[in-house]
Amino acid sequence: MKKFATQAIHAGLEPDPTTGAVMTPVYLTSTYAQEAPGKHKGFDYSRTNHPTRQALERNLAALEEGTYGLAFGSGMAATSTVVLSLSAGDHVVCGKDVYGGTNRVFTQVFQRFGLKFSFVNAHQPAEVRGAILPETKLIWLETPSNPLLHITDISEVVEIAHKKKVQMAVDNTFATPALQNPLTLGADLVVHSTTKYLGGHSDVVGGAIVTKNEEWYQKLKFLQNAVGAIPGPLDCFLVLRGIKTLAVRMEKHCGNAQRIAEFLSHHSEVEKVYYPGLPSHPAHIVAKRQMRGFGGMLSFELKGHVDRALNMASSTKVFTLAESLGGVESLIGHPASMTHGSIPKEEREKAGLKDTLLRLSVGIEDVEDLIQDLDQAIKQSAKS
Ligand SMILES: *Cc1c(COP(=O)(O)O)cnc(C)c1O
Repeated sequence: MKKFATQAIHAGLEPDPTTGAVMTPVYLTSTYAQEAPGKHKGFDYSRTNHPTRQALERNLAALEEGTYGLAFGSGMAATSTVVLSLSAGDHVVCGKDVYGGTNRVFTQVFQRFGLKFSFVNAHQPAEVRGAILPETKLIWLETPSNPLLHITDISEVVEIAHKKKVQMAVDNTFATPALQNPLTLGADLVVHSTTKYLGGHSDVVGGAIVTKNEEWYQKLKFLQNAVGAIPGPLDCFLVLRGIKTLAVRMEKHCGNAQRIAEFLSHHSEVEKVYYPGLPSHPAHIVAKRQMRGFGGMLSFELKGHVDRALNMASSTKVFTLAESLGGVESLIGHPASMTHGSIPKEEREKAGLKDTLLRLSVGIEDVEDLIQDLDQAIKQSAKS
């Protein structure tokens, strides 16, 4: 099998058989002509499948070292489709610090349909084990987590899950297949928001599921078509185009984030840095074992009051103050008032998420410019 950077550019893709176009075509059509009833060239209706999505799904399957890929209209559509495979009465054990939208759809939508959810510190596998009930069907986790970059030992949780005949899904959005392959570590499903690093340019919303398991694939493929949370051809094209540069982008994201983590951890105005690439991270060894790089996301607490953190977030000039992550451009966010604002303050503090915490999605600009920008914003925040 070819190496990752080669796969990213070539897996699942071939010149268009009708024209020879090297790039995957975008056919803006909802339906396909049939020679005779039921006799067609593999495509009949674009919810069921279309050539651009087929290429993307094959590409994603190869990158995650799976067998089957399924593309969706958003990360939340992919997540929801996994949960739609369950039935009323089934129970899911979920990491406490998963993406806010995942928590929201589990508790505010699926709970109404009789599914049950328990939220635990997934990076403490004993908590996962303790939460498994006879009706537990699925464990859902994210590693690294958001925004505190907790690392869960995937193999360890897989072992707990499979001993109890429970299936395991990992949202691999933060790490990407360039850095971590949960299927290879034993997980049954990998889920992605392709909106983030896979797309990589903050210009498309999409999602995906990859699996090696034929039974899972048939179930999910049925749901993909039956429920219809699918991406259009142009969205698939943009994600495919983004993926071609994933390997080089992730290398730069990791390098820049490591430099910035080191800069911040030596800064006299910074209280604490959360980045799995720092030897001081409590699960640095686990991260080193299961990842090929530590990613582009990091968080840090600024000394002083919450006002100072808010000031800093508004004082950067290269970093844009915005939600989301994974694009080539650097972003800064204040989780307590932005991405995690819907969690009550008391619960946030209990989870270790302080009001002075700032989160960075480190882009691929020149790292000296990024460091200088953070330095001037820290200085500026002390003045105001
Ligand atoms: C953004 C995100 C999602 C949701 O994806 P959308 O494409 O926005 O629907 C899910 N999980 C993680 C980790 C994310 O960052």
